[in-house]
Amino acid sequence: MSLHTPYDPQNIFARIIRGEAPCYKVYEDEDVLAFLDLYPQSPGHTLVIPRRSAAVNLLDLETGALCRLMTVAQRLTRALVEELQPEGVQLAQFNGAAAGQTVFHIHVHLVPRYAGQGLGIHAAQEADPDALQALQARLVRRIAASS
Ligand code: AMP
Repeated sequence: MSLHTPYDPQNIFARIIRGEAPCYKVYEDEDVLAFLDLYPQSPGHTLVIPRRSAAVNLLDLETGALCRLMTVAQRLTRALVEELQPEGVQLAQFNGAAAGQTVFHIHVHLVPRYAGQGLGIHAAQEADPDALQALQARLVRRIAASS
């Protein structure tokens, strides 16, 4: 997929937004949805996506939607830090297959990082559903208590 590929409304994140596919949702508002990565690179790996933009990547996204996306990414990063106490948090956003993008609806990765612990392989190993559910419950509570 090139940087200029057209938006495919059947991509998995579009289907999640429309409620046609499940996700471990941790946050939503009018503009933004966030859910746990099914193939996390570390526990708590969260994806933040715009709900109302048919944007493949950063080149396509309207400035207003980008601001909303990053505002929520900051709020969720704070909640992740409070709840999971990582030593670092890595934000990532890939544009185009050549850069590692595998789902072509723009998204930001929030990846908690711990000293001495490497990253899991990108989009490779599905997490245990019970572990995802437990993390989801913790993060939903923590995010709801945050502002
Ligand atoms: P990227 O490679 O930057 O496009 O990231 C796509 C991310 O989506 C990867 O980290 C995948 O593990 C993740 N992913 C793919 N399908 C799903 C899904 N159904 N639910 C949650 N995360 C997903």
